[in-house]
Amino acid sequence: MHKYMSSSGSSDSKDSLGARKAGKLRARRIETMVSVTPLMMLANIINATVVVFLVGTSENWFLFPWMLLIYGAAFVGLIHWRRACKKTKISSVSENALVKAAKGAAFLGAVWGALPALLYPVSDYQTKLVIIAVTSGMLGGGALSLYVVSPAIGAWIVTIVGGSLIGLLSSGNWEDWAISSLLIVFAVSIWRASKSMSNTFASNVVARFELAEKSETIGLLLKEYTDNASDWLWELDSNGRFLRGADELGRQLEVEIDAIDPRLVSSAKSPTHEFEVDLRSLGEVWNFFNRHQSFHDLQISSKKPGARRWVSVSGKPQINDEGVFIGFRGFASNITQSKLAEERIAYLAHNDALTGLVNRASFSAALQQKFKDEKSTEFWAVLFLDLDGFKLVNDANGHSIGDSLLTEVARRLKQSVNADDIVARLGGDEFAVLCSSAASLQALTVLSENLIKRLSVPYEIEDLMIEIGVSIGVAIGMADGRDQHALLNNADLALYRAKEEGRGTFRFYELEMDELVKERRNLERDLRNALQNEEFELYYQPLVSSDDFKTVGFEALLRWNHPVRGEISPTEFVPIAERIGLISDIGEWVVIEACREAANWPHHLSVAVNLSAPQFLEERIVKSATKALVDSKIDPERLEVEITEGLFIENTREVIRSLRELKNMGVSIAMDDFGTGYSSLSYLLKFPFDKLKIDRSFVTSVDTDEVAKNVLESIVKLASVLELTVTAEGVETTDQLEVLKQMNCTRFQGYAFGYPMKSSEISVFLLKEFKSTISENVEPEGGAHKTDSALQSAIQFL
Ligand code: C2E
Ligand code: CA
Ligand code: CA
Repeated sequence: MHKYMSSSGSSDSKDSLGARKAGKLRARRIETMVSVTPLMMLANIINATVVVFLVGTSENWFLFPWMLLIYGAAFVGLIHWRRACKKTKISSVSENALVKAAKGAAFLGAVWGALPALLYPVSDYQTKLVIIAVTSGMLGGGALSLYVVSPAIGAWIVTIVGGSLIGLLSSGNWEDWAISSLLIVFAVSIWRASKSMSNTFASNVVARFELAEKSETIGLLLKEYTDNASDWLWELDSNGRFLRGADELGRQLEVEIDAIDPRLVSSAKSPTHEFEVDLRSLGEVWNFFNRHQSFHDLQISSKKPGARRWVSVSGKPQINDEGVFIGFRGFASNITQSKLAEERIAYLAHNDALTGLVNRASFSAALQQKFKDEKSTEFWAVLFLDLDGFKLVNDANGHSIGDSLLTEVARRLKQSVNADDIVARLGGDEFAVLCSSAASLQALTVLSENLIKRLSVPYEIEDLMIEIGVSIGVAIGMADGRDQHALLNNADLALYRAKEEGRGTFRFYELEMDELVKERRNLERDLRNALQNEEFELYYQPLVSSDDFKTVGFEALLRWNHPVRGEISPTEFVPIAERIGLISDIGEWVVIEACREAANWPHHLSVAVNLSAPQFLEERIVKSATKALVDSKIDPERLEVEITEGLFIENTREVIRSLRELKNMGVSIAMDDFGTGYSSLSYLLKFPFDKLKIDRSFVTSVDTDEVAKNVLESIVKLASVLELTVTAEGVETTDQLEVLKQMNCTRFQGYAFGYPMKSSEISVFLLKEFKSTISENVEPEGGAHKTDSALQSAIQFL
């Protein structure tokens, strides 16, 4: 039997299924078989009773015990069935169970087989018919109910057919022999049919196993995915009830999950969670749900004071095979971090990172909006503020103090204006207020004064007491500019004026400011191109010796030949060039050009150039001078640089280092405009100057003003103590010269000796001087030598 079984059920074989699955399949087989047991047993009882009733027991005494045997077997079968019903579902059974089932089938089959075997040969025609009908019925019916358990059906067929064949063959009739062969064909067909049904059953069961296994795997994977990822799956049924993912949604949004359901919106405010879901964002999702439309990346948010959460959801309607909507399925993910980053970026696009005030771009946008709102009759203004002395604080105390100061200024500013007014930091130490709360010029005046007062109160930052001031320019909305650019610009002009008028004050914009500043701006623009366009030119003013009034050198003085405005004085454009950072480039051009020009002159003539403070940054002047000397090949002793005292105020150390290097190169250093500056004497002692140029203001009044004369006298005496060469500037008249001659000046410079001239005029100037020298030196003895050297120089030059 065992051998038969293992070869019979190919789909049960361990090799093709694996032991676990084979056990499970066997269990399903037994289960199916057991499920038809009551019917089968009932059929047994009825058929046995019918047989006994029709055939009768009078002649066939054994029929009665036979019937009892069937009853007994049926009873045992039913007991088994009852037991099986009580058990919970059997997941797996051993091959033994099949053997047991086969044994049972074999027993019952044998009992039924005994009927034809014993009765058929001795029966009349009527009884034979009953036996054939009942036996065939039992054979077929049993096969139908046992087909799932191949060993059982095998045993069933073999025993019944066996008994029948015995009865048929022992009857001795040739008809019965024919029936026997028919029975064999019949039995084989039943066997084959049930076998094929059994196989189909097996493959169906296996297919179900595999399906279950697959969904189990998918379930596991999904669980893992949901457990580990920030994304999770959600599912709703057709009524919008969550089948999965609701808890996670509630957890991520930090809201009661009831709040997610639109039918429970009234309970959105949860007592246990401080977060409140944004119903509008939720409503959007439900709109898609109700329309059965897919959606992608919809954002549901929740918030509590000071915090927000976002979840992004995507979903797709689920339609079953019949085309019926059965719900929604999709993904959700917590996007709070990226949303916060996004908001921060957006915030920084509109706000100043340091002070949190509105930035320039947003301020400009707010102004633009004001201008768009044309119908408004509101009185409004822009206040442009610039801190006074902020740069000093920043340089002296470091940027961190500077930053704290700006933050504090921002705070005070916000406190000093109305909540509706917009306060912006436009950059650096520039702030602005878009003020709608001051309803008149007078109110603006009061506000401006108040702002100046409050911002000027000393600031206590990291144990330092810091004092700064503020200047304000005010422009009135609409009246003082046709758009936001013009208005802000005009407020800036007013500020400019406030600064010029002594700082710590405010000015309203006036039309004239426009013209003045426009001109200055244009000049700046043109100045940027002047070097490239070769609009600069050097003029040279002679410096003469006090002994014989002969030229000993020239001072190079810069001129700007503006294409429209003509020649512009350095007093006008040099400060601008300094302010807009152009003076270093221009200064380099000056020293190179001056040396190049001096290379053409007689070798005893020196050339002096004027320097500005920015030229000392990063020792730029040292590099420029070196280049100029190398290019022109003139003796460094012939080059002089003139600096003013003001230059020492900032970056003293850097200035002194550069000056020392220049001095080491052989270049001489002159202190220009001496006497006008700050603490002149101390600077004189700080650095070993070679020359001193006394400012024109002393010289101008030297012949009329006794005090000026005395000051001049002392300066000259001091210079001689310090062994400095002294030049008196701005000598215009012979009277002045008379007074100066009595003092120990080394050199003179001024219109009395020569105006600043173009380089092309120098040769004529020197020739004239040379001629007068010759006429002055006709006969004296020493003079011949003097004339000689002058002549030589002049010839060389010409
Ligand atoms: P500064 O160095 O004191 O130059 C002397 C100024 O006085 C020159 O004016 C000159 O033309 C003028 N001057 C000379 N003699 C007399 C006189 O007898 N009477 C009167 N009233 N004025 C006289 P300028 O050329 O307009 O230069 C003005 C200032 O511009 C210069 O003052 C100098 O500080 C600056 N400057 C000139 N060229 C340069 C330059 O290349 N670089 C820099 N950084 N500054 C320069
Ligand atoms: Ca000078
Ligand atoms: Ca001067």
